[in-house]
Amino acid sequence: MILVLKKEATQNEIKHVVNEISKLGFTAHTIKGETKSVIGIIGNSDKSKLTALKTYSFVDSLVAVSKPYKLAARSSKEESTIINVDGIQIGKNSFFIIGGPCSVENKEQILKSATIVANNNAHMLRGGAYKPRTSPYSFQGLEEEGLKLLAEAKKKTNLPIVTELLSASNINLVDKYADIIQIGARNMQNFSLLKELGKTKKPIILKRGLSATIDEFLMSAEYIMSVGNYNIILCERGIRTFETAYRNTLDLNAIPTLKKLTHLPVIVDPSHGTGKTELVIPMSKAAIAAGADGLMIEMHPNPVEAFSDGPQSLNPDEFKTLMKEITPFIKVAGKTLS
Ligand code: PEP
Ligand code: MN
Repeated sequence: MILVLKKEATQNEIKHVVNEISKLGFTAHTIKGETKSVIGIIGNSDKSKLTALKTYSFVDSLVAVSKPYKLAARSSKEESTIINVDGIQIGKNSFFIIGGPCSVENKEQILKSATIVANNNAHMLRGGAYKPRTSPYSFQGLEEEGLKLLAEAKKKTNLPIVTELLSASNINLVDKYADIIQIGARNMQNFSLLKELGKTKKPIILKRGLSATIDEFLMSAEYIMSVGNYNIILCERGIRTFETAYRNTLDLNAIPTLKKLTHLPVIVDPSHGTGKTELVIPMSKAAIAAGADGLMIEMHPNPVEAFSDGPQSLNPDEFKTLMKEITPFIKVAGKTLS
């Protein structure tokens, strides 16, 4: 267990609590941080006795390190992680928006999409070149051709590119074109892929698995971090519940929960989180209010003709409305739209 102390904790208070811990049959190891101290508690006595320590006013929290994520834990790094992508500071107080189609379909479609994203002052372009489709008969993506089209779109608009990596065999290729590599919900627990990602230094958007718990989500981030890539952005994209009125249930609880448990940036994808165009703007506002650092939005020049995820894609006018309507929410949340 780790006892995290508030920064105001005095030497005497620390001494006192160390003494209390040893009286309970544990050994205390005090680790002084730059901004606050933590006490590592080791021993095999009854851990439930330790919960009483939380009642001290100078104690911030009691964290079980039997919780297997360590590098991802806020208790191991109090300051929020800030990831710089082409000058965009992810995780800082500047809110950011990734927009673009589910799939890269052709040159005209992706260039149009990129122009709309850029003209509305959104920050990055998304588009899948490798698509994880439920049916093997559905459009699987343009693969390398799609990556090349994304590169053209970047050249035209300067927008950084977010695109999904499906398989470790394509890691070098996707790494070459992507500014952020997306790992989709279905691959969240593809541990061999996660370990490979740890070897790149490229920022990763790790999407929450369809039925992954918060702990499992953080363990997947830990997998990547444990190999040495700390540039991870967590993405809440809805979970599968009994509800069938929409595609997924966007778990807004996850945002403040993750913000508390981890120092990693947290973004929200209300497109997959709802599966319905009309829910995207209201849930974007809710995500901002709940403390998200950014949004990932599916937008298509003509959603009716989209090869994938048309029913949840905003059209250009709706994207414009989104950008306009979320602005006051971003301000109220104490963030800026750069
Ligand atoms: C996507 O972003 O298009 C996608 C497939 O998302 P998810 O992995 O969250 O289903
Ligand atoms: Mn999609």
